Amino acid sequence: MGVDSKDDTARTRVPVAASFPRHEQTFPALTPQEIARMRRFGEIANYKDGERLFETGKPGPGMFILLSGHVVITQRDGLGHVTPVIDQGPGQFLAEIGQLSGRVALVDGVAEGDVESLLIPPERLRALLVAEADLGERIMRALILRRVNLIQAGAGGPVLIGPADSSGVVRLRGFLTRNGNPHHLLDPATEHDAAALIERYSPSSEDWPLVVTPDGTVLRNPSESELARAMGMIRGVAKGKVYDVAIVGSGPAGLSTAVYAASEGLSVAVCDARSFGGQAGASARIENYLGFPTGISGIALTARAFNQAQKFGAEVMIPVEVKALDCSRDDGAFALKLDSGDDLRARSIVVASGARYRRPEIVNLADFEGRGVWYWASPIEARLCAAQDVVLVGGGNSAGQAAVFLSGHARRVNMVIRGGGLGASMSRYLIERIEATPNIELIFNSEVVGLDGVQNASLERVRCRSRLSGEDTEMDIRNLFLFVGADPATNWLEGCGVMVDRGGFVVTGAQCKKAAGDLASALETSVPGVFAVGDVRSGSVKRVGGAIGEGAQVVAALHGFLGDPAKPAL
Ligand SMILES: Cc1cc2nc3c(=O)[nH]c(=O)nc-3n(C[C@H](O)[C@H](O)[C@H](O)COP(=O)(O)OP(=O)(O)OC[C@H]3O[C@@H](n4cnc5c(N)ncnc54)[C@H](O)[C@@H]3O)c2cc1C
Repeated sequence: MGVDSKDDTARTRVPVAASFPRHEQTFPALTPQEIARMRRFGEIANYKDGERLFETGKPGPGMFILLSGHVVITQRDGLGHVTPVIDQGPGQFLAEIGQLSGRVALVDGVAEGDVESLLIPPERLRALLVAEADLGERIMRALILRRVNLIQAGAGGPVLIGPADSSGVVRLRGFLTRNGNPHHLLDPATEHDAAALIERYSPSSEDWPLVVTPDGTVLRNPSESELARAMGMIRGVAKGKVYDVAIVGSGPAGLSTAVYAASEGLSVAVCDARSFGGQAGASARIENYLGFPTGISGIALTARAFNQAQKFGAEVMIPVEVKALDCSRDDGAFALKLDSGDDLRARSIVVASGARYRRPEIVNLADFEGRGVWYWASPIEARLCAAQDVVLVGGGNSAGQAAVFLSGHARRVNMVIRGGGLGASMSRYLIERIEATPNIELIFNSEVVGLDGVQNASLERVRCRSRLSGEDTEMDIRNLFLFVGADPATNWLEGCGVMVDRGGFVVTGAQCKKAAGDLASALETSVPGVFAVGDVRSGSVKRVGGAIGEGAQVVAALHGFLGDPAKPAL
């Protein structure tokens, strides 16, 4: 399916970059001396007037440094609108963060007059960032700011068409937001373009949202991986390639492993079924991670790590679910069985698959998941609860953080807690903050037992039961947040010989004996060459700091296993 393009020209609209803050840092000019230092990383590439240097939706060839001539950058939205972003001239460079890993371009670049440029392909760009530290810092900052600005302007990604509170819209916006992908939402009730498209495709309620990709393809309520494929976010696995290490999970533990392993010269692949950041990505404010005295959101912390891992050359594949691990190593390498049907092969494996949200026994729970029942509280969900009462279940730190965050958006946050107090399960600083927040109501010795509403549409009522009297109370609630802990994500390890404890967490080190009877090193599992880090590991501390530390530590063990004499275990 496709949408016809319109004749809208770039010059009739206001450049998107006019609204970008920190303009000088976003579009810095390089001096002739700096360009001279960069020449060894690239090749001269010439373009005639009107020729395209890069095109939306197609893999970008790398970073261009303009030596002469001008390039007009425009953004296409798939509905036929073309908006100018900026005009770049000599001394300026053209790229955004996706070019570090050769991802698809989010904008078009067209030569205005003849252009001479220095083209630096992704691999050489990464080498430049590492070799030229000062210059690298300026370029890296500009690449990140450009992506942040595109996200804030909603420019360069797909257009989602549907009611803002429909479950499909919330699901796909969450996916795109958590993966740092720009997108734009059009509500059919108010937007002419959306109404015209709806008339043409006449979607039923299950088709929401329609998604229009920049090349005009229209998808009906796609899955995350369908959307990712249509947007060119997922590339196939290179045939015959064997990585030094394959990491399953890109939460704090997986990203930390990727940064340290790739920065020490190992070839690294990382797969994540959902988005980078893992559980930490759901944290509105992490206050106990070293070096951030005012706190940092989980997304902000892990987005930095995601960019850093790519800067060192780690290949991060999202959304790609690992279905199984084949440890037979018939040809010497482990094989991860991916949901695409491909095998990803590596000489060692790091299990960093963390934990998945627990689903408590609540009548009709499944009917309202994604339609009023949420397992995290990001700004997207918070917007849905503006001026409403919400219920939040849980008494741990993650529940406390979410309650404080939601109290800034909802009229009242009713916190339902099984126990009679918070002292045993929540940090003191959070308890004090909750007590000082007037619109958080604590309901102790209670649990949510049932939900009611319009089936497969919207939640309307939540039934709570007192654990002391057995009495039920109904509340008119459209949004319920569940923060009741998580179980290890280890199903994919079944049958491969990796030992897990009674709770399903992966056993490592002295707790397990390798097949030969030797003791495994601290983070090694019962299968030599398979390591585990972070929340998925039996006995780990279940904290961001712990997960990141284990990611750094496991790299020494990887060098030891891979037999790299130049990199002895620390
Ligand atoms: C709301 C919330 C707030 C929190 N706040 C704090 C805090 O303030 N301070 C603190 O120290 N800790 C906090 N935590 C805990 C902290 O987030 C975790 O300890 C940390 O994220 C664990 O990191 P991890 O990388 O081990 O696992 P996870 O973060 O769980 O990441 C695992 C990743 O693996 C992926 N995955 C799983 N299975 C597969 C598969 N088969 N194939 C591909 N990918 C897979 C998942 O999609 C996920 O992205 C919080 C947790 C939550 C939920």
